[in-house]
Amino acid sequence: MHESCGVFGVYAPGEDVARLTFFALFALQHRGQESAGIATTDGKNLQVYARMGLVSQVFDEHSLTHLTGDIAIGHNRYSTRGSSRITNAQPIIVGNGENTLAIAHNGNIVNAEHLYEELCGTGYTFNTSTDTEVIANLILSSPEKHWVDRIKYAMHRLQGAYSLTIATNHTLYGVRDPFGVRPLCLGAINGGWVIASESCALDHIGASFTREIEPGEIVAITDNGIDSYQEEVSRRAICIFEYIYFARPDSVINGRLLYPARLAMGEGLAREHQVDADLVMGVPDSATAAGIGYARYSGIPLCEGLLKNRYVGRTFIEPDQRIRDLGVKLKFNPLPQMLDGKRVVVIDDSIVRGTTTPKVVGLLRRAGAKEVHMRICAPPIRYPCFFGVDMATRAELIASHKTVPEVRDFIGADSLGYLSIDGLIKAVALPRDIFCLACFTGDYPIPVQLQMDKLALEHMPADEYSPSTVKQR
Ligand code: SF4
Repeated sequence: MHESCGVFGVYAPGEDVARLTFFALFALQHRGQESAGIATTDGKNLQVYARMGLVSQVFDEHSLTHLTGDIAIGHNRYSTRGSSRITNAQPIIVGNGENTLAIAHNGNIVNAEHLYEELCGTGYTFNTSTDTEVIANLILSSPEKHWVDRIKYAMHRLQGAYSLTIATNHTLYGVRDPFGVRPLCLGAINGGWVIASESCALDHIGASFTREIEPGEIVAITDNGIDSYQEEVSRRAICIFEYIYFARPDSVINGRLLYPARLAMGEGLAREHQVDADLVMGVPDSATAAGIGYARYSGIPLCEGLLKNRYVGRTFIEPDQRIRDLGVKLKFNPLPQMLDGKRVVVIDDSIVRGTTTPKVVGLLRRAGAKEVHMRICAPPIRYPCFFGVDMATRAELIASHKTVPEVRDFIGADSLGYLSIDGLIKAVALPRDIFCLACFTGDYPIPVQLQMDKLALEHMPADEYSPSTVKQR
């Protein structure tokens, strides 16, 4: 399962803003590994350098030296809307003269195609196939004079998930959609300010955490300091997968450090799905903490049965299925001496298509495990995501058309237990109604078109159900 991107912004006169952005993107690399980019402004001109590849592959001393100014924004990309190619790398610069902005986006705009057609009809042209350029042109199309009002204008028309950093020649903006689907936080550094997808990026560059940017909030940072503008929020819908998998365990989201939340997910699994076993292990790295939690609660010894090659990126780095199949073998190496003849409880973050888990079970069995008991930190994923997480169609989601015993048999495990929604909420220790749980429940937070479509889709066969069929209806 892919998340969509990491964004960053810094306003810090006198600092090397491009270098700060580089190290912040380095800390946010887990959020997107296809391309990376930095845009800066010296107060007169915006400039951008973006390429395909990891942050450390994209930038060198030479490229950073040429990115000068007091304001920078940066981006790590995993493609959701728009293919994986250099023209879709971000940040992008859109507009002319004083009417120019640079923008970096994490999320997915549900009504992007409609807005794209509308903007094309009024003479706007597009250089990329991303919804980010739709956002940028929507801001530029506003009849309002001031940038904040123009951003508000766009927010009133956009449906979906967006955490944005935007730079104009004199101002850095941070914008979070009214649902707050993706995280965005504010920090301070040497008299300047930073904005990041996750607080771990602030830690790595020596910035201090100030607060989260609220759902529906626009933060504008200039020489005069910070101004905040709050748009109306009907309900929050923070993506629960930020807590399960996407964000780093050393990040704080909604006042909750993720590491103890993941420990508690493991404890919850042990409470809900006990089993007699010799060893517990978490699939590294995203389920490591949950494995510790399971071992702690159950009293079963913890062990590292799979070692991860940490230099190959995440399993789903390539969108292509063939590369995904290879990816698991490249990624993990089992320890037969630890596993031989043992009954093993294996904790993993989620089962999406069911392509990875059978390979993990097979690796463990070939390494000598006598029994493999899978425990999953997420409930069964039965519905696709419309907010920027690449799960593809409903038919590809194994839990949408198989019962738990059927999934257990498919993955080849001796037993399978998913954490319940109640158990998950208890582990995160925040109110249930602030979260999006749509991929478990089908209850999408977007109010108008998706709710209507959902009613229709209840009568649609699973293999016809996908984000694109919803959009077309
Ligand atoms: S549908 Fe699932 S993955 Fe998508 S935003 Fe909601 S909780 Fe996150």
